[in-house]
Amino acid sequence: MKQIPPKNKLTANFLIWIMALLLVPLLLLAAGLLVISTRFVLDLNAVIVALIIAFGFAIIFGVVVLLFLRRRFLTPIYKMTSGLNAVRFEQLENIKPLSDKGLNEDIGELVRGYNQFLKILKSESQKEDALRASEERYELAIRGANDGIWDWDLKINQCYYSSRWLFMLGYTEESIRNSPNEWFSRVHPDDLEGLKADIKAHLEGKTAFFENEHRLLHANDSYIWVLARGLALRSEDNKAYRFAGSISDFTKRKEFESRLLHDAMHDPLTRAPNREYFQEILESALGRTQRREEYHAAVIYLDLDRFKLINDGFGYSAGDQLLVEVTHRLKRTLRTMDTVARFSGDEFGILLEEINGLQDAIQVTRRLHSILSQPYFIEEQEISPSASFGIVMLTRGYQSAEEILRDADTAMNQAKANGRGRFEIFDKEMHIYTLTRLKTESELRQAFQRAEFKVFYQPVLAAEDGEIDFIEALLRWQHPEKGLIPTDDFIPVAEESGLISQLDEFVLRTACNEARSWMDSGFENLRVSVNVSPKLLINPDFSEIIRSTLADTELPYENLILEITESTGVYNSGTAIQNLFDLTSVGIRVFLDDFGRVASSLEQLKRLPIHALKISQSFIKDLPVNSDDTAIIEAIIAMAHILGMQVIGVGIDNIHQRQYLLEKKCDYLQGFLFSEPLNRAEFLRLLIEKGTNLEAKLEETP
Ligand code: C2E
Ligand code: MG
Repeated sequence: MKQIPPKNKLTANFLIWIMALLLVPLLLLAAGLLVISTRFVLDLNAVIVALIIAFGFAIIFGVVVLLFLRRRFLTPIYKMTSGLNAVRFEQLENIKPLSDKGLNEDIGELVRGYNQFLKILKSESQKEDALRASEERYELAIRGANDGIWDWDLKINQCYYSSRWLFMLGYTEESIRNSPNEWFSRVHPDDLEGLKADIKAHLEGKTAFFENEHRLLHANDSYIWVLARGLALRSEDNKAYRFAGSISDFTKRKEFESRLLHDAMHDPLTRAPNREYFQEILESALGRTQRREEYHAAVIYLDLDRFKLINDGFGYSAGDQLLVEVTHRLKRTLRTMDTVARFSGDEFGILLEEINGLQDAIQVTRRLHSILSQPYFIEEQEISPSASFGIVMLTRGYQSAEEILRDADTAMNQAKANGRGRFEIFDKEMHIYTLTRLKTESELRQAFQRAEFKVFYQPVLAAEDGEIDFIEALLRWQHPEKGLIPTDDFIPVAEESGLISQLDEFVLRTACNEARSWMDSGFENLRVSVNVSPKLLINPDFSEIIRSTLADTELPYENLILEITESTGVYNSGTAIQNLFDLTSVGIRVFLDDFGRVASSLEQLKRLPIHALKISQSFIKDLPVNSDDTAIIEAIIAMAHILGMQVIGVGIDNIHQRQYLLEKKCDYLQGFLFSEPLNRAEFLRLLIEKGTNLEAKLEETP
């Protein structure tokens, strides 16, 4: 509470004294005069009048003297006394400087001294106020801030920590001393070096501000993330003598960031690292390969075989469960230092570190293969997938993780091409093959647009009479510069790239049109066969494509034969089997092409509506000399006939083969001996010149 200075009584006291001084002689004078007047018979009235007049004069004189004294002496003294009183009660704002005009010299001097005193006093007081305000602000800022403040006196090496600083770390003021070590001893070992380096750089004047993120050990033994900021105060010789700043807790943000980072780097389904993250880990492994002679690492690229069929057949949820289970199996089989990542779909990457060499990588791959092939029970169903693997050893020649992954992928694709369920080790030739393959793929697409594909026709004879039974439509690529490209050089690429479906549809439409024109030219019985790739066959729209093509070209169902190849993809696909039943039910015939080239199960064979088997050329080639081939062919023919199927011998280019197949009751014959595949015009000429019985013409030829 503000104190009120007491009222100044100086003037009143002074007045009483002056009056008393004047009145006492006057009273004495009056008393004297009264005594004299009674003794010496003076006119009393005259005396009283004289006294009254004297009193009047005395009072006027007293007042004049008083006013004079008051202006010259009393008022300044009165004001100064009040001022000093106000000073005593710290009310400087109410005190004003006094004027020294018209004052007596001594009093004027006193007033000037008083004014000077006031001036000094006020300025000091203002400074004090400013200091107090700033201290209060600082105190408020420290108390109110969410940040912990530290203030390090470098001269005495003492560091003050605010209560908020201590609170952030779960301590109280009593438990922490004012030592910089209280801070540094709590810094995470991985962050300490960086923190010290940043402090040193700032204290040496190399950075304008100090800033560092690090972890501090909380009293509860967990680490919190803090952002420390600070600034050093420097002496004239630029030497830091005080260093102060704050720390702010950003653990939550860091956790959020690391969660975001984790999500961005991991596959949400299997929780395994994703391709981007794997690439980063691989980059560091590549760095180690380049630095350390004895360090060996390998990448295994893994792709589940026919995963799409699992998705199609059992549903996506089963597919997902399988991927999760595969990830678990991989992790369980590998060491903790190895990395398992899911790239996409059914593709996984594995990094094996600190191995002895390629032999180790092969051994691990074999182990992974056997563990992955063990049956999975998903949604009460047993699934037995296999996988194909590509192995690459990290060598100094690699410049980036991307190159390594590219090669591992190439090796994996090679494993798939070589029959799946196996591994391949990358070598340079594979890379060249991949490049050529990619080039061919793009050339194929261009060729399709430029209409460079043609259809050739090769007749197939009925063995019993030599009459053309049907004509196989074969795709040809007529390259403008390179001429006819062998089918082996582009059909596998078209199959891998998926372009084969478009090409098959093109052959189908062209061949049906052509067959229609043969009919119109009087060759009503000439049927046409087209090769259908598994890719097209498993397409749910396949039967619709066939039906609409036949409708558009007005070709009867009976005049079309589909040649399908043996493939597990077809056996396992409900869609493919459905397509085949749909089409055979309306009269279209289905032949199984290239029979015997890959091992097939008779059980699977029974599931498909097949009318004839086309024996793989590999068994015909060395007929009748090769006894193994003859045994196989005899068995195939016997088996097919028992199953109610017919048999076609393909690739007959000499009469011995023909003779042998005729003896063994092969039903149809196809080969250069009768006719090579011919283009449209050539085939028409053949029909016109030789008719439909090529066997008779054959016998006529010398
Ligand atoms: P494929 O279906 O077994 O076709 C028969 C192949 O045997 C044809 O080869 C034909 O030219 C060849 N050939 C026939 N007689 C003889 C002979 O006496 N000696 C020899 N050395 N070869 C003979 P091409 O046309 O090169 O076709 C190879 C394979 O390419 C075909 O085997 C078929 O699987 C595939 N292909 C051809 N055209 C198409 C097509 O339009 N679509 C699909 N998906 N595949 C096709
Ligand atoms: Mg064929």
